[in-house]
Amino acid sequence: MAGRESQFGATLPKADVPKKVCVVGAGPAGMEAARVAAERGHRVKLFEKTGELGGGQFRLATLAPFKEEFKNIVRYYKSQFKKLKNLEVVLNCEVDAETLRAEKPDAVILATGGAARVPEIKGIDRPNVYTNHDFLRQGVKVSGKVVIAGGGCAGVGTADLISDVSTADRLSDLGLKVTVVEMMEQCALDEELITRLTLLHRLQTKGNVELLNNYVVKEITDKGVVVIGPDKKETTLPADYVVLAFGAVPYHPLEEVARQFPNCQIIGDVVRPGKIKDAVEDGFFAGLRV
Ligand SMILES: Cc1cc2nc3c(=O)[nH]c(=O)nc-3n(C[C@H](O)[C@H](O)[C@H](O)COP(=O)(O)OP(=O)(O)OC[C@H]3O[C@@H](n4cnc5c(N)ncnc54)[C@H](O)[C@@H]3O)c2cc1C
Repeated sequence: MAGRESQFGATLPKADVPKKVCVVGAGPAGMEAARVAAERGHRVKLFEKTGELGGGQFRLATLAPFKEEFKNIVRYYKSQFKKLKNLEVVLNCEVDAETLRAEKPDAVILATGGAARVPEIKGIDRPNVYTNHDFLRQGVKVSGKVVIAGGGCAGVGTADLISDVSTADRLSDLGLKVTVVEMMEQCALDEELITRLTLLHRLQTKGNVELLNNYVVKEITDKGVVVIGPDKKETTLPADYVVLAFGAVPYHPLEEVARQFPNCQIIGDVVRPGKIKDAVEDGFFAGLRV
């Protein structure tokens, strides 16, 4: 772990008793947990419901042009997994209770990630409204005016601020007029400083992206997104499409079955939506604990 080499040394401690470990979800948390557990000598099976490593939220995070370097993370894990003969990756497998029971694992690590947060806002179920997860995953083709609603809601972490900007950036590259509505004083406040300044500067100079800070989304109507501005006045932002980027909530489809496996750890965004580094850290320690 970068910066903790003196604490953990160059090699990981071998497991006293090698176990059969099932890791569910190959996002950053699951991949790191699988790597560490396998390096320690456990027999590891890493299950992923999509057809690729990092195919969940992580893939969405890599789609913004300025976040392409994240793809190196998956390249790294692929190269590590090749060296670990006691680690098997199973893609296109959505794990349920039955799958886990059939595996008869000694230990289970659940790293199923997060889902888009959808707050209770009037009109949010209109057909032209997408979560940013769906929008990016489906590669929705949009035209005209797009409002990105999100950022700053209670309990939402860094990812939503970043994803607001990531999504807007992607849209503007398609030649659209994009307005980002942000409740905080500025967008992407929790982003690493240099990245944040570079990104905001790029968006502001593109000409077709407007960042509205200190605005709160009140309602979505057939005319657009009703917002309340810093002056407490209501305005309707015309919108052909609305993309919700209100961050993530835990996605925990195996919550019930987790109780059936005494040696079960739950890690990454399924515990608390955060950032990639948090998920990797969770994975590292889960791999050490198993
Ligand atoms: C649009 C967007 C932009 C983001 N930008 C950034 C950013 O710039 N920087 C940053 O640090 N973070 C960013 N994030 C957040 C980051 O992607 C997450 O914090 C991180 O991916 C969490 O890792 P995880 O392993 O916990 O979950 P995930 O990456 O979601 O991985 C969970 C995996 O579990 C799989 N899975 C779920 N259920 C099952 C099942 N039953 N069986 C098998 N597999 C299953 C999923 O397919 C998925 O691959 C962004 C997120 C989004 C959505």
